[in-house]
Amino acid sequence: MKVTKTQKWQVYALWVAVVPISFVMAFHFFPTGQMNYVNLSINLLILIAIMMLPIAFDNVTITLERWVIFTVFFNYGILAEMIFMQVAMLVLLFTQTTNLSKVFRFSVNSIIFAIVSLVSGSVYYLVGGTPLFENIGLFALTGFIYASLYSIINSLLLFLYFKFRKLKTTDFRKAARWDYISSMLLLPFAISFCLLLQLYGNKAFFLIGIPFLIVLLVTRKFLKSDQLQDVLSSAAAIGHQLSDQLLVDDVLQTFTGKLRNVVPYESAYIVDLRIGENLKLLTAIEGKFRVSETNRFSFPMKKTDKDGLNMDETKLYVNKKSIASLIGYQFAPSVESVLTAPIKRNRKTEGFLILTSTEKFGFTDIQGEIVTLLAGYFAVAVEKARYYERTVEKSIRCGLTNLHNFRFLEEKLNEEVIRFHTNEINSLSVIILDIDLFKGINDSYGHQSGNDLLIAFANLLRDYQTDDITLARYGGEEFVLLLPNYSKDEAIEMAEEIRRTVEQSNFVIMPDLGEAKEPTVVQMTISAGVATFPEDASNGKELMRNVDRALYIGGKQAGRNKVGIYVEENTQVTIN
Ligand code: GH3
Ligand code: MG
Ligand code: MG
Repeated sequence: MKVTKTQKWQVYALWVAVVPISFVMAFHFFPTGQMNYVNLSINLLILIAIMMLPIAFDNVTITLERWVIFTVFFNYGILAEMIFMQVAMLVLLFTQTTNLSKVFRFSVNSIIFAIVSLVSGSVYYLVGGTPLFENIGLFALTGFIYASLYSIINSLLLFLYFKFRKLKTTDFRKAARWDYISSMLLLPFAISFCLLLQLYGNKAFFLIGIPFLIVLLVTRKFLKSDQLQDVLSSAAAIGHQLSDQLLVDDVLQTFTGKLRNVVPYESAYIVDLRIGENLKLLTAIEGKFRVSETNRFSFPMKKTDKDGLNMDETKLYVNKKSIASLIGYQFAPSVESVLTAPIKRNRKTEGFLILTSTEKFGFTDIQGEIVTLLAGYFAVAVEKARYYERTVEKSIRCGLTNLHNFRFLEEKLNEEVIRFHTNEINSLSVIILDIDLFKGINDSYGHQSGNDLLIAFANLLRDYQTDDITLARYGGEEFVLLLPNYSKDEAIEMAEEIRRTVEQSNFVIMPDLGEAKEPTVVQMTISAGVATFPEDASNGKELMRNVDRALYIGGKQAGRNKVGIYVEENTQVTIN
C-alpha cells in the first residue's frame, strides 16, 4: 500500500513535535556518564558492522545490535543511546531497500525510537538503575525491566504505525516476537560487556565485541545455505510437479502458479522464440488472472540483438532506469522491477520468461537463481508435453487425409450421447458418405490416384466442419459427419447438398497407370445415409448401425448417388 501525501505530512509534523524535544529532554534531565570517546567510537564501529549484517530466517529480517545499544545506554545514558540508535537506523536505511522513501522511513523510525529511548530510559532510572553496576543483582533486574520495556514499547509503536498505514498486522506479530526474543537474548551480552569494560577497559572488545561479530558472520553463512537449501528443495518439488503434466496448457499453469510461491511476481509472461527471431506470447498472467492478450506489457514481433533482452542469462532489472534498457519492451507504469530468463533447451534459447514486480528491488539474486533452475525444468516439461500432444493427435487422425479417424469418432460419439442425456444438446444427427464404385476408380487410374481423390473429397468435406461438427474418415472411402443439434431434416439437407456438390465436381488427378501421364478430369458420385438420435436409435452403436443401413439400403441398393434416410427398422426412404 502506497503512503499518501497526507500520511507523509502527518509523520513529518509528528517528527518535528517529538524528536527534537526528546533530545533536549534527554540532554537536560538525564545524567550522562563519563564520556570515553575511544570506547564510544569502537562501539559505534561495531554497531555499524552489526547493522550491515542482518540475518533472515523464519521470514523475518533481524539485526542483533541491541546489546551495543544497551551497553551505550548503561554506560552513557539516554542521549548517547538515542544518537546511537539514530545512526543504526541510518545504516539500515541504506542497506535495506524498500519502495518507501528514505526520508519517510527515517522519520517513522526516528519518532518510534526517540519515544522508546526516553520512556524505557526514564523507567530504568526510576526503578534504581545506575551507571555504576555495583550491585549485579540490581543491575540485572533494572536492566531486564529496561530491555523488556525497550522492546515492548517499540513493538507497540510499530503496531500503531501498522494501524496508521492500514497494513496487515500478521507480519507484525512475528516481528514483535523476534524483537523481544532478541532483546532478551542480547541483554546478558550487554550486562557482561559492561562488567568487562569496567574491569578491563577497551580490551573487553576482544572478549565480547569481536567474537560476537565472528559468530554473527558464521551464523549468516549458515542461515544463507539453509535458506538456499529450502529454496532448492521447493524448486525440485516444482520440477517434479511439472514433469507430471502431460498437456502443454497444464505445464504452463503449474509453472506460473507454483513459481509465484517462490518468486512472488505481479505479472508473468512466457514468450516463445520461433526460428530464432519471432516472438510469440505463450501465456500471460496479469495480477490474479490469466489473460490471452497482454494489457500491461507489449513486446516487439521480432527479437533483435540490440534490444537488451539477454539470450543467455537470467537478468534482474531492479529500477525504472534499468528496465528502460529493454528496448521495445513496454511495461505498465506501476512496474518497478523486471526479471527476464531465457528458456533453453539443448543450450538453445527457445523462449523467455518475463516477470514483473511493482516494488523496487522486487527480485533478489537468489530468486534469479531459482528462476534459472525452474526455466530449465519448464523447458523440458513443455517439450515433453508437446511431444505427448503430437503423439495423441497423430493417434486420432488418419495419415492420408489428416481428418479424425474411427477411434476419435467412436469417442466423440459417446461424448455426444452423454451431452444429449445431460441436456447440453437436443439432438444428434449422423451422415455417412461412401464413394460409389471406388474400386473401379482404383482399377482405372491406380491406387495413388485413388488416394488423391480421397484427399480431394476430404477437403471438400472440410467446408462442412465447424467447432461443433465432427468430421471423420470412418474407413476406406467412407466418411462420417456428427451433427449435434441438427434435426433429421437439416442433416438430410446437408447430405443432399454434399451429394450434389460431388456429382457436379470435376476432380483432377494424375493417373499413375497406363501411358497417358497428364492431368485427367474424373467425375464421381457418392451415396449417403442419414439417421438421428434419439428418434432412430437408443445408443451410439445403434445409431451407427442404422445410419449404415440407411446408406446401403436407401443409397447403394436404391441405385447409388442417393441419400438414404433411416426411418424405422427396415423401412428406407430415399431421396433423389
Ligand atoms: P460401392 O459403390 O458399393 O461402395 O462400391 P465400392 O467399390 O466403392 O465399394 P467396395 O467396398 O467394394 O470397395 C471399396 C474400395 O475402396 C476398395 C479399396 O480398394 C478402396 N480403398 C479403400 N481404402 C482405400 C485407400 O486408402 N486408398 C485407395 N486408393 N483405395 C482405397
Ligand atoms: Mg464405396
Ligand atoms: Mg465402402
